[in-house]
Amino acid sequence: MDGSQEIGLQKNSSAERDFQEPVRLKERLDRLLREAAQVAVELSRADGTIKGVPHYSLIEGQAHELGQQLSRELQQRQMNEVVASQALTAKCPACGTRCELEPRKRKVTSVDGETGLQELAGYCPCCRRDFFPSPRSLGF
Ligand SMILES: [Zn+2]
Repeated sequence: MDGSQEIGLQKNSSAERDFQEPVRLKERLDRLLREAAQVAVELSRADGTIKGVPHYSLIEGQAHELGQQLSRELQQRQMNEVVASQALTAKCPACGTRCELEPRKRKVTSVDGETGLQELAGYCPCCRRDFFPSPRSLGF
């Protein structure tokens, strides 16, 4: 009886930790974004990009540039997670042979500029050609 209560308590406390995780991560993200903004201000003053009383468009342009940089970083990391979660083999779309997949980096022009994203690509020895697997060919 005591043992099952302990297990029950452990389950509750781990469920509570999972519930708190998004809150902690959101707070950390907010803190890091505020810090990044502060560092960007200090950098622009230190390197002379912005001095005195600048035209507001200069401030806005610098802010937008930092936002785009963050967007490209986020896109890269999200694609790395997608690649890491996918199966390592897929059927060739032409002949159906199951082939090994390997991560490859590809340059992509996103709305926030050029960035290098990872994606899985296969090589079919029967067809002697590369292919990019569709989600269906991964066997999900
Ligand atoms: Zn093939």
